[in-house]
Amino acid sequence: MTTDLSAYAAEHGVRYFMISYTDLFGCQRAKLVPAQAIGDMQRDGAGFAGFATWLDLTPAHPDLFAMPDAASVIRLPWKPDVAWVAADCTMADAPVDQAPRVVLKQLVARAAAEGLRVKTGVEAEFFLLAPDGAAISDHHDRAEKSCYDQQALMRRYDVIAEICDHMLALGWKPYQNDHEDANGQFEMNWEYDDALATADKHAFFKFMVRSVAERHGLRATFMPKPFPGLTGNGCHCHVSVWNAAGTENAFADPEMPFGLSARGRHFLGGIMRHAPALAAITNPTVNSYKRINAPRTISGATWAPNAVTWSGNNRTHMVRVPGPGRFELRLPDGAANPYLLQAAILAAGLDGLAHAADPGPHSDVDMYREGHAITGAPRLPLNLLDALRAFEADESLRTNLGDAFSSAYLKLKRSEWDSFCAHFTAWERETTLDI
Ligand code: ADP
Ligand code: MG
Ligand code: MG
Ligand code: MG
Ligand code: MG
Repeated sequence: MTTDLSAYAAEHGVRYFMISYTDLFGCQRAKLVPAQAIGDMQRDGAGFAGFATWLDLTPAHPDLFAMPDAASVIRLPWKPDVAWVAADCTMADAPVDQAPRVVLKQLVARAAAEGLRVKTGVEAEFFLLAPDGAAISDHHDRAEKSCYDQQALMRRYDVIAEICDHMLALGWKPYQNDHEDANGQFEMNWEYDDALATADKHAFFKFMVRSVAERHGLRATFMPKPFPGLTGNGCHCHVSVWNAAGTENAFADPEMPFGLSARGRHFLGGIMRHAPALAAITNPTVNSYKRINAPRTISGATWAPNAVTWSGNNRTHMVRVPGPGRFELRLPDGAANPYLLQAAILAAGLDGLAHAADPGPHSDVDMYREGHAITGAPRLPLNLLDALRAFEADESLRTNLGDAFSSAYLKLKRSEWDSFCAHFTAWERETTLDI
């Protein structure tokens, strides 16, 4: 594990470091620091005016210092004399409690104090678009059922293989790449890891996919629902919990239904209990709510959930248990902040463990055809405001994520909602002009 960034630079020929932190809206902010200066920066941090990014700070606040976490350093595979390093925000020598990576680290530490290690894998779907972002880049990619489309996948071989080669070189153990359910949409899968490591990889993956796509004259987007009628960008998260050594899966029990242990059920119970509030984090944009609760797409299914239900190996529910010892949360979308996504899952799941939460009965129905027959399952929030209200009302989730974070997040997201509401749309004119 890397501990000294100066030595790392000398050993690998790194000329510049990107000291990078992720703000509340998931934007990555960086300073590009020459290797000659990295020793001081590693000790003192890189200075930022925090108000200039999406954090609840004022222009009068003192400098925010991003302290690089040397263990996270990655040389850019497409520009190997530059290295990216994830940073933790501090101010006046104290951690900034609202900063997403700080929030996640605190929850990882809480799990560790209970002798638990949460391991997760994400499926960050994306579209490859023309550079102006208006349409997909491949005009031949028009099939009604375009999932796994072999020809369309291979027309983007140069981009997909380049990204996959990078993941191989980084030791992420990628194992498959495919054309997804929407025209122009792709998914690349790599092996699960500790929640913090997955969050860092997820953040870097988004940066890498965008960068490689740009080098090929394309534009990648993780936007939840870029095109009406086409399946949106999900970011499913697979979850298991292990012992402190990471050698024993505490979610696995062959004697239990679906091979999910009692602890696995309790963790899942926490996810079910907090789901409407979780949506404020897993589905954090106005556009997110065009993906969940959506009408059928051209392909025949949205593959996104609409209610708080769980199932065995059935992809129409919010949670699927695809095999023994883990579950898949299908709620999150491509706009989810990589750090807050993991933090929210830990917060809800640990709360479920603490209260021996019951996930309730599972369901086997096809939610897209028979969902109306399920009684008692809460609907997912219908829009961002619903989700923010659910989050505000969920005191235990807010406390588990930390009050400083929760109030900062609610404040900024509410003002984003207000900004959306102040925006005049073409739909209003079309439906109201002649009233
Ligand atoms: P699907 O499309 O069927 O949902 P994928 O193969 O696309 O599944 O993604 C599965 C993800 O789950 C991968 O990131 C994989 O590493 C991860 N995963 C597999 N087993 C576990 C586990 N025990 N705990 C956490 N994540 C896991
Ligand atoms: Mg300046
Ligand atoms: Mg997948
Ligand atoms: Mg997928
Ligand atoms: Mg999945």
